[in-house]
Amino acid sequence: MSGLLDQRFKSGEGGVLLTTAEDLLNWARLSSLWPMGFGLACCAIEMMQTFASGYDLERFGIFPRPSPRQSDVMIVSGTVTFKMADRIRRLYEQMPEPRYVISMGSCSNCGGPYWQHGYHVVKGVDRIIPVDVYVPGCPPRPEALIGGFLKLQEKIRNSRLTEEPAPTALLALEANELA
Ligand code: SF4
Repeated sequence: MSGLLDQRFKSGEGGVLLTTAEDLLNWARLSSLWPMGFGLACCAIEMMQTFASGYDLERFGIFPRPSPRQSDVMIVSGTVTFKMADRIRRLYEQMPEPRYVISMGSCSNCGGPYWQHGYHVVKGVDRIIPVDVYVPGCPPRPEALIGGFLKLQEKIRNSRLTEEPAPTALLALEANELA
C-alpha cells in the first residue's frame, strides 16, 4: 500500500490512514487520468503505440476516451495548422475542469520543422491553449510520452485546491496573430 500512496498519507493507529481531503483528491485525480488523443500528424503514431499493449498506459490508470466531455487531459500530438487551431480550442473548452494539456513533439511545442518557413503552422499550441507539460522529440518515443504523464501526475500531486484554473481566453485565432 505504501508503494501506491506517497508520504502525504500517514499510517495512524490501528492501520488507519491519515491524510487531507486535498491530498486524497489529488491522488484520485492523478491515478485516473482520461486523455483525449488529438493526433494531428506523425507524432500521433507514437501516441497510439503508447496506448497499445507493448507500453500499456493503462497500468498507470491512464485510459483514453473518445469524447472531450469525458476527458481531463488533451494530448496534442502533431502539427497544429491554422485550420485546426480553432477546433483544438473548442474541444479544449468542452473538457470539464480541472483539465490538463500535454504538448507532444516539436511541431506542437514550437512549430517543429515548420518553425521558420511554415506559413500554415501555429508556432506552438500554447498560443491557443495553456500547456502543462511539453514532451520534446520529432517524434518523441512512447517512453517520452509516458515520462510526460509522470510529470503531469507530479504536478497534480503538488497542486492546491485554491489555485485558479488556467485562463482559456488566450489569443485571437487570426492567422496573422499566430504566425
Ligand atoms: Fe511529425 Fe516531427 Fe512534427 Fe511530430 S514533431 S508531427 S514527428 S514532423
